[in-house]
Amino acid sequence: MANSVEKALYIVATPIGNLEDITLRAVDVLKNVDIIACEDTRNTKILLDKYSINTKLVSYHKFNELKKSEFFINCLKEGRSIALVSDAGTPLVSDPGAILVKEVRKENFKIIPVAGACAIAVFLSSIYREGEDFKFAGFLPRVENQITEILKENKYENLIFYESPNRIIKTFEIIEKIYPDKVVSFARELTKKFEEIKTDTIKNLLNHFKNNSPKGEFVIMLHKSPKKSEIDIDEKIEKLKNLKLKDKEIANIISSLYGVNRNTVYKKCIE
Ligand code: SAM
Repeated sequence: MANSVEKALYIVATPIGNLEDITLRAVDVLKNVDIIACEDTRNTKILLDKYSINTKLVSYHKFNELKKSEFFINCLKEGRSIALVSDAGTPLVSDPGAILVKEVRKENFKIIPVAGACAIAVFLSSIYREGEDFKFAGFLPRVENQITEILKENKYENLIFYESPNRIIKTFEIIEKIYPDKVVSFARELTKKFEEIKTDTIKNLLNHFKNNSPKGEFVIMLHKSPKKSEIDIDEKIEKLKNLKLKDKEIANIISSLYGVNRNTVYKKCIE
């Protein structure tokens, strides 16, 4: 194992629960850099103690990002090497670091990512989804109208987000109001003792959480709604009927626009 580091900013991923989920390279880098920038020094100390790492810790969190970035740039100018870690997982993924990376790039210092755990990646590796694509929303906003807007905009996406246990029931109730048949996956406490991974309808999951109060850390995915859903066709029929179109015309229009069988639409029209 190499034990030399460059004069650079290393972005080092750390475990999201199980302390053994760390790479040999990450341990090597953390041992050999001059400074580790971390969110909560007490938290990172637990990891460092496990791997007998004695590197100096300096706090860097969302409330002092700009000020501390100046300090770290000066360290790089003096020829020192720095590793940035967050409390868990990959820095800059719903975690601080963006300002530091921006400033370090501006000064043309090298940035070296050290790959490792990230809750979305771990989650995606453990659930089935239709298609390769997904959209990651980070943490949803707190206001109901804003959540509703995001849900509506992303009806046809596999929409992934992080959520805290004390907001899950509220968020699920908002989802149920808009999409009562939505299929949802969640993972709780990934890589930890009480890990739980489930896929079910929003209704069943709401019941699940009302019976077992949600605890721990969560990643959630709303599965994309199928584009040719029955509900959509019903909506389209209703809109076209309001325009006083004949059933046959409606069947032709919907069939040619959305590739749905003409007779199926026609039958729905006359029901
Ligand atoms: N940077 C981290 C990453 O790479 O995943 C994410 C940091 S963000 C501040 C913390 C959120 O990530 C938690 O609130 C939770 O939604 C999710 N998370 C982190 N660890 C998790 C775990 N072990 N199981 C499930 N979700 C987790």
